[in-house]
Amino acid sequence: MTEIEILRCHACNMPLVLGDGSTIKCPGCAAETPVPETYRELQRARHDEPALRAQAETELRRLARPPSVIVQVLARCLDLPMMAFVMLFGIPVTLFAVLEADKANRWLAPRLHLASSNDVPFGYMVAIICFLMLVIAFVPRAFGVYANRRATARSKLVAALMARPPETPGGPSTCRGCGAPLEVVPDATVATCSYCGVESAVVVDAAVAATVERVVRNLGKTMGDAAEIDRAERRRTLHMLVRELGRYTFRTVLLGIGFALGSQETADKKSTPLAIVALVATVLLFIFFMLGSGSASAKDDAETRRAGNDIPSWVGIVGPIVMAWLMFKIVAAVAF
Ligand SMILES: [Zn+2]
Ligand SMILES: [Zn+2]
Repeated sequence: MTEIEILRCHACNMPLVLGDGSTIKCPGCAAETPVPETYRELQRARHDEPALRAQAETELRRLARPPSVIVQVLARCLDLPMMAFVMLFGIPVTLFAVLEADKANRWLAPRLHLASSNDVPFGYMVAIICFLMLVIAFVPRAFGVYANRRATARSKLVAALMARPPETPGGPSTCRGCGAPLEVVPDATVATCSYCGVESAVVVDAAVAATVERVVRNLGKTMGDAAEIDRAERRRTLHMLVRELGRYTFRTVLLGIGFALGSQETADKKSTPLAIVALVATVLLFIFFMLGSGSASAKDDAETRRAGNDIPSWVGIVGPIVMAWLMFKIVAAVAF
């Protein structure tokens, strides 16, 4: 963007929208200001193109569309600190596994070529607990984190696309690129700057405008450029999701294998040396992971990524408790 000087009314100094004619009538004092020759080229390039504007408005509508309420509620309930997940879901899952252990062991024994269900090593149950935790807690959490990151990135993007406030109260909104006054066609949601050609959003969902602080960003000239930036952000967020899922799975499998190894026994029901080493290592590893997730959550984007979620934050406290209570109910119904 090259710096273009904004024409001002020669009588009252009000910034003017670059029109089509050889003079511009000031909306403030009605004086006619002549358009210098150097601006004529600009005038020819910047005439309002309804087809282009319609295209920009479609892009903006797509970018400004908030996620569905269901997605937002789930994101509120699932994007919890890891510790909360372990407390809320770990307890019902463990309870379930312990209560159902007998049934599971009876099922497992013949498949492991063991004589009775008592011979099934305890570690298998721990491995199953790890697997259940992965499926019902860690994977949904990763998706909750993803949904919140996307919603926040979107509302920040849209906030940055908005026209700047008028220079004088009651005056026209100004260009997000160069600050020139904008001429808004009635019912239009996008206005193209008559000076620099940048498209600004002039009508945006009030919720988006209110919840997100406005940061001036270089999002390119058009809504199409902004959509391209949004797609790149989505790809990055998806990569983060895949990495997080990979990390959860790797850790859970590691702990599962560790506990399973830790429960290896000799024929006379004594732990093998390998089992003792594996058990100690696994417990240490578990503590290490918990401490690690604690210090990681202290410096991750938890606070900022949840900012774009319109659902009140108490839902994020009540929702998981209700979900945990339901799980207890299900556990009780299955086990007793
Ligand atoms: Zn004037
Ligand atoms: Zn501009």
